[in-house]
Amino acid sequence: MPASNEPPRPPWHALSVEETLSRLTSHTQGLDDAEIQHRLDIHGRNRLQQERIRPWWKRLLVQFNNVLMLILLVAALASLGMGHVLDTLAILGVVVIIALVGFIQEGKAEKALDSIRRMLSPRANVVRGGQRRQVDAEVLVPGDIVLLESGDRVPADLRLLDAKRVRADEAALTGESVPVDKQTMPVADDTELAERSNMAYAGTIIAQGNATGVVVETGARSEIGRISELLRDVEKLKTPLLRQLDRAGRTLAIVIVLTALLTGVFGILVHDQPLSDMFMASIGLAVAAIPEGLPAIVTIGLALGVQTMARRNAIIRRLPAVETLGSISTIFSDKTGTLTRNEMTVQAIWLPEGQFRVTGVGYAPEGDFVALDDDGNDASTTVSLDDQPDLGHLLRAGVLCNDAESAEEAGRWHIHGDPTEGALVVAAAKAGLSFRTLRHDHARHDAIPFESERRYMATLHDLHGTTCLFVKGAPDRLLEMCHRVRVGNQTQPLDTQEWHARIHALSSRGLRVLALAEKTGEPHAGDLTDEHAEEGLVLLGLVGLLDPPREDVIDAVERCLTAGIRPVMVTGDHAETALAIARQLGFSHTDRAVTGREIEAMSDADLAACITEIDVFARAAPEHKLRLVKAMQARGGICAMTGDGVNDGPALKRADVGVAMGVQGTEAAKNAAEMVLADDNFASIVSAIEEGRKVYDNIRKTITFLLPTNGGQGLSILLAVLAGGSLPVTPLQALWVNMVVAITLGLALAFEPGEPDLMKRHPRNPDAPLLDGFLLWRVVFVSVLLLAGVFGMFTWLHDIQGNSQALARSGAVNILVMGSAAYLINSRYLVYSALSKQGVFGSRSVWLAITLVVLLQLGWTYLPFMQRLFGNEALSLIHWLVIVSASIILFLIVELEKGVWRYFHRSLRGRSSTHDPLTPRKTT
Ligand code: ADP
Ligand code: MG
Repeated sequence: MPASNEPPRPPWHALSVEETLSRLTSHTQGLDDAEIQHRLDIHGRNRLQQERIRPWWKRLLVQFNNVLMLILLVAALASLGMGHVLDTLAILGVVVIIALVGFIQEGKAEKALDSIRRMLSPRANVVRGGQRRQVDAEVLVPGDIVLLESGDRVPADLRLLDAKRVRADEAALTGESVPVDKQTMPVADDTELAERSNMAYAGTIIAQGNATGVVVETGARSEIGRISELLRDVEKLKTPLLRQLDRAGRTLAIVIVLTALLTGVFGILVHDQPLSDMFMASIGLAVAAIPEGLPAIVTIGLALGVQTMARRNAIIRRLPAVETLGSISTIFSDKTGTLTRNEMTVQAIWLPEGQFRVTGVGYAPEGDFVALDDDGNDASTTVSLDDQPDLGHLLRAGVLCNDAESAEEAGRWHIHGDPTEGALVVAAAKAGLSFRTLRHDHARHDAIPFESERRYMATLHDLHGTTCLFVKGAPDRLLEMCHRVRVGNQTQPLDTQEWHARIHALSSRGLRVLALAEKTGEPHAGDLTDEHAEEGLVLLGLVGLLDPPREDVIDAVERCLTAGIRPVMVTGDHAETALAIARQLGFSHTDRAVTGREIEAMSDADLAACITEIDVFARAAPEHKLRLVKAMQARGGICAMTGDGVNDGPALKRADVGVAMGVQGTEAAKNAAEMVLADDNFASIVSAIEEGRKVYDNIRKTITFLLPTNGGQGLSILLAVLAGGSLPVTPLQALWVNMVVAITLGLALAFEPGEPDLMKRHPRNPDAPLLDGFLLWRVVFVSVLLLAGVFGMFTWLHDIQGNSQALARSGAVNILVMGSAAYLINSRYLVYSALSKQGVFGSRSVWLAITLVVLLQLGWTYLPFMQRLFGNEALSLIHWLVIVSASIILFLIVELEKGVWRYFHRSLRGRSSTHDPLTPRKTT
């Protein structure tokens, strides 16, 4: 709610640009640091009050909203009705403990997700004290000058000062899904929000064009802050896997409750048991057999996965991605910045007459130009611009048709803006040309910004009394637009063949190639149009930029290939450059790259056919990415797709896991993605996949571990009633076992490290059910083992040794818990042997859980109040020896079963050798 004493808000949209600036005491060069600090103190940070997503009491109440809890509450009431006050209290105690544990765990999971969401806090490009800078959107103040480009999310409410072909997607604010045009002239005072075309509002996205605006309102005073509709991005903790479990759990609960009822009725009718005993037995059966700890444990497992991924630079925006990551079979990856370092340096310049090598590494303006002969060998020592006016002219064009800046900060040189453009600024600086002076002397009148679809950028300048259009872009694109080349002050016809050969020579060395062109003597009339920029240009020359591969990507590619995952490069760059880089990274097994144009010529079926053969797609635009994803999915592949631009949205959404670049990426891309890379690095995707596989494994292990405990208990009670004997485990005791196992042993497997072959297996089939035949078999097998233990112990203590029922039950409960503890160690590996030092002692969390459970059981067995509450008796040393030996025997039997399973599995696999068309191949 806006406070009523809030200062009035001027109708910014009705003011002229000058008026707006003067009201805000600001100007186009931005505010200085002291003033910004002062305004921050007055206006506060530019953020919305983040409400707690769910109040704690709601989270607590939700804990009671499940079948088990309801059964327990009914049971407590019924026991009270039958006069078992002690039982009622004990059941209520357990209810509270289970609710609290669930509550605390879920709280932790939510907090973890929350803190990760905060890592995605947006940044903004501003002009402060005359310099372009990038800052956290939180520190924007009214009067700040903000630069926007396509794909940016508007960081605060802005009055636009300058807007070139700008359209904004304001769906977040107005619900209108079609982007609206923006301009800078004032509009009428009473114009509606959706039609205030000279404003850009916080939370909306720039769909196209470049703009500059001055911040007028921040934080809660912005339009979006006022309607506080920020809950829309809130992540739910439910994933398909959790929902599948929920459903399975509900069915299971119904089956169990029915069985329990029937069992009770059977006891009463057939064995003439008293009603109250049978009622408690039914309750006990239901309680024992329902795995109530499971959903909470799975949630914890997922949240842990999200946290580990964040530490490895992969930020999950939507929880289901954690599961999907484990089954990824293809990674479509951008090249620049993801596979390569995106630290561009100009290495080669090719003029119509003469080729040069540029020396020096990094962004410092230190380096020379060396002329080369026709064979590419050094032909001279360093050249100077006085002897090479054409070189100077090309460098000048490169700096003017350019938005990047370079600056020295704390002794290190940095570039601000696009690295491709930054490299040109640095190259010019090596020749002594200052970008500041050049841009000051030759004012820019208009510009067409670079966009991946267009593949060039054009600017219009004053040059020696006339206007001049400079264009820089992809060389093959520019060759289509040029007919002549410039030599000295003359122009000559352009030899297309020769220039293509030059482009080939540069790009097959893995260099990124740019071409520069101009058109002089243009009358300066009206706005620059695409048609105007695209014809009659004069070529100035080529620039070759080196962008070395990231070192850790070579290793990551190797890991992908062993894990049955195909890396595929999709780039806007030239085919030769792309292939050269792919080869350096080790994942191209053909010499062929398919270009965007070829993709366009193919039918969907052709594309699906060729997609398994091609590792490099070059000169590709965002719409091609979408088609690639669709084609791969049509072949049954599960794909991750990276993207950074506004137009990558559809492909990211369509991919099974859309991956946005955290550093270079636009807000629009992040918005569409499931995962954001904090370091833009391909290797981080592979780490996330590894983590995803591990999380899924651990969830499966947890389920395989937990279900038999429940199965063993449930079956014990069921059989006891059917046989008409006394219960080996009372309902209350079953409740205790359930709780102890779920909150200690059950949690341990979520912390398991990945198995050694985690990245050596093929991706998981996403259609395979979570509870497959193997898993069900294991559950039944171990349930029966535990059942045998419980009955064996009870019979031995009670019927053979003639001990009291209470003592026999103490033994039965302890063997159930200790047997589960032993089985926990088995469950660390589902099929591999745990019979090794690493297998038995390798996990700290497992042994921590076992220690805890032993302490709890000792307390349960020997503390007088526990004995009174649960009706058990103290055991002697000899009993413990039997319990421990039996547990070890159970452990060994399960290991034996694994061995048999492995044996048959191997002979099965030996026979079938089908060729998987999606199998990746290494560089040959
Ligand atoms: P990618 O990032 O996948 O390498 P882009 O779509 O960004 O591909 O670039 C495609 C081509 O456009 C590049 O190979 C280069 O020739 C050209 N290019 C890239 N950035 C710019 C820019 N800022 N100005 C002009 N041309 C550019
Ligand atoms: Mg790019």
